[in-house]
Amino acid sequence: MTVTFARRTEFLKKSEIREILKITQRPEVISFAGGLPAPELFPVEEMKHIAVKVLEESGSQALQYSTTEGFEPLRKQIAARMNARFKTVVQPANVLITSGSQQALDFSGKLFLNAGDVVLCESPTYLAAISAFSAYEPRFMEVPTDNKGIIIAELEKILQTVANIKLVYVIPDFQNPTGRTWSLERRKQFIKVISKYEVPVIEDNPYGELRYEGDLLPAIKAFDSKGLVIFVSTFSKTFCPGLRIGWIAADIRFIEKYVLLKQGADLHTSSISQREISMYMEVYNFEEHIQRIIKVYKQRRDAMINAMQEYFAGEIRFNRPHGGLFTWVVLPEQVNAVALLNRCLQHNVAFVPGDSFFPTRKVENTFRLNYSNMPEEQIWEGIRRLAMVIKEY
Ligand code: PMP
Repeated sequence: MTVTFARRTEFLKKSEIREILKITQRPEVISFAGGLPAPELFPVEEMKHIAVKVLEESGSQALQYSTTEGFEPLRKQIAARMNARFKTVVQPANVLITSGSQQALDFSGKLFLNAGDVVLCESPTYLAAISAFSAYEPRFMEVPTDNKGIIIAELEKILQTVANIKLVYVIPDFQNPTGRTWSLERRKQFIKVISKYEVPVIEDNPYGELRYEGDLLPAIKAFDSKGLVIFVSTFSKTFCPGLRIGWIAADIRFIEKYVLLKQGADLHTSSISQREISMYMEVYNFEEHIQRIIKVYKQRRDAMINAMQEYFAGEIRFNRPHGGLFTWVVLPEQVNAVALLNRCLQHNVAFVPGDSFFPTRKVENTFRLNYSNMPEEQIWEGIRRLAMVIKEY
């Protein structure tokens, strides 16, 4: 019997870059490629204490099945923190705990997309969101962006003229991959247009709390009077990705549907992980923990920007992110970032070529750099090598 896979698997691409990047796990490689948080900032000692405390105080519940919606005290803590930081008005009932925010992206595809439906996204956008949505066989359309966010006139032109737009996917804070943040004005203009056309929006926000300078901005969800914005976030970057705790905060009509999907997918998110995060926030000061991360990542961002300013010559453009984990480099048109990466790997330095962040176009002369996972000396050395290879090229 011949095995036939479902048609959707044809849309799942094996990333050639991922293959190349396996090399970056060698210890001698200075890798700016992944998006990993700094492991030395994980509160390992505190979590040992918390793990024991959770098991002592509620061991049998922590190891039992639990509700699909999530651990109630954690939903309350999330709603309160979101409202304080992002100026939203979210109740605990609006929050569904997911297994990482990646699961929220997958469920969003499952909830809204039939084959051939259109997803609008920023150009460029988060690679693994493209993968998550691709399983539902949509057609992507990229909306042009500038330093202030998505370009509203372009968005409106598409909304006006294209049929079957089911979802708009955006990352307004310290975007992966570019590190850019939307201005306040752009957020307001965006929600105005979205309200006019009434399309659901996924506001993916894993990095918003990691701001190193400038004013805190409200989430787009804060302006969402029609309940169209589905806010998605995670503890992966502010705490520990290994716990796999993310969430969706949305209008109840959406949450009810997401709950049904989650029941069919994995019943609920890990009971013990949810209780551990919740207990950590009760026992320790979570804001102080975030401040420790901010302090280190700000120094690393500065090291990377200063090194690029020192070593990169004229025609290379890069941005100076105000938070998050990434910056984005634009090379002269004729330079191919994949070829450049191959040469860089010979000098033990790595990055992610930008092409995979564009779902519909070929863009060869860009790449993404991560600065959260390397100490400052390594950042300086890595950028020095990178600049040397670019010069040779
Ligand atoms: N969205 C964006 C924009 C991301 O950068 C990431 C992590 N790299 C995720 C979602 C998924 O994170 P997690 O599943 O760990 O919550």
